[in-house]
Amino acid sequence: MENADRIKNLPPYLFAEIDKMISKAKEKGVDVISFGIGDPDQPTHQNIVNKMIEAVQRPSTHSYPSYQGLFEYRKAIADWYRKKYQVELNPDQEVVSLIGSKEGIAHLPFCYINPGDKALIPDPGYPVYKTSILLAGGEAVTVPLLADNNFLPNLDKIDPAIAREAKLFFVNYPNNPTGAVAGDEFYKELIDFARQYQIIIAHDSAYSEIGLDGYDPPSFMQYPGAKEVGIEFNSLSKPFNMTGWRIGWAVGNEDVIESLGRIKTNIDSGIFEAVQYAGIEALTNSTNNIQQVRSLYTRRRDLLVEGLQQLGWTIKKNKASFYLWAQVPEGFTSADFSKQVFQQTGIFFTPGNGYGKEGEGYVRIALTVPENRIIEALQRLKESDIVFS
Ligand SMILES: *Cc1c(COP(=O)(O)O)cnc(C)c1O
Repeated sequence: MENADRIKNLPPYLFAEIDKMISKAKEKGVDVISFGIGDPDQPTHQNIVNKMIEAVQRPSTHSYPSYQGLFEYRKAIADWYRKKYQVELNPDQEVVSLIGSKEGIAHLPFCYINPGDKALIPDPGYPVYKTSILLAGGEAVTVPLLADNNFLPNLDKIDPAIAREAKLFFVNYPNNPTGAVAGDEFYKELIDFARQYQIIIAHDSAYSEIGLDGYDPPSFMQYPGAKEVGIEFNSLSKPFNMTGWRIGWAVGNEDVIESLGRIKTNIDSGIFEAVQYAGIEALTNSTNNIQQVRSLYTRRRDLLVEGLQQLGWTIKKNKASFYLWAQVPEGFTSADFSKQVFQQTGIFFTPGNGYGKEGEGYVRIALTVPENRIIEALQRLKESDIVFS
């Protein structure tokens, strides 16, 4: 059976491949410690689970949900933005529910990209930005995130001819995979850039709640002009350990939200309402949950980074997200290093080049591993003959 061109050119989803490799090793009896996939290992908080149980008992939640999402859910999102960022959003026109933010990210290019159109994506970056642009028939132009610019896109270095042609620009802070953060100055420049070149900004805020050491990441929406030029994606997945529930949102520019909603009404039928009630609970009774999650990742990060530094690694603590972005030792490619570590120790680090060409020379280490396993991993690395210099 002959695949359509759009799928022929699609690389296999990075993590699907990794899953396969890890399962194979496990079948052979390897005690794998995977720092690979960014999926919280902790259960969803009990108050949220209880709300779900309550909601699922009500037959009214069993029908097709509304396309936009329950008004109460959209209102909970608007209230969250008001309380947290002092941003006003109209729940009817400026908020749309998503079946996880990945769903919205993957559909957005279909709203704005005609075949051959350009869109800007960060390199390294979350793989969905690129593939969704390709699926829409567009061309993804990479903007490098480099260590010497703190893994922020250098807007001055983007070719103005390309900027003028580009329709969309995906931006993601706190950043996956680098763990980098963005501040006021960057967002202000980004909004000016978007205005100058008439580019829609799609800000992916999936890690907004995972600020460490007391750092609270800003929202793109809190900057003047953001609503004119773009939208922000966010999700309950990472802060509330709800990756399996599939619930997220997009907020911001009314026209963009309307277009995204229009595509969705033709493809999906919204989020199970019981899940939306659980989402409302997460958004309205969240302070303790988030505090717990932040201290958990801080403890793990400190344990791992300090342990790796003692082994001679050059590695810095991340300020947000649950990712460490570590340079591989000299003489290794990302893939060689990841493979060698895996074969010798059963520890998996994701090769950075999987996130784009500029990820070469790095591995991504997800802090989604309990402390006793981090200690075990450090011990295995110490006993291996892998040298960091
Ligand atoms: C995890 C992740 C998402 C998607 O999360 P959903 O579960 O689909 O809401 C989006 N963007 C980035 C950068 C992520 O790491």
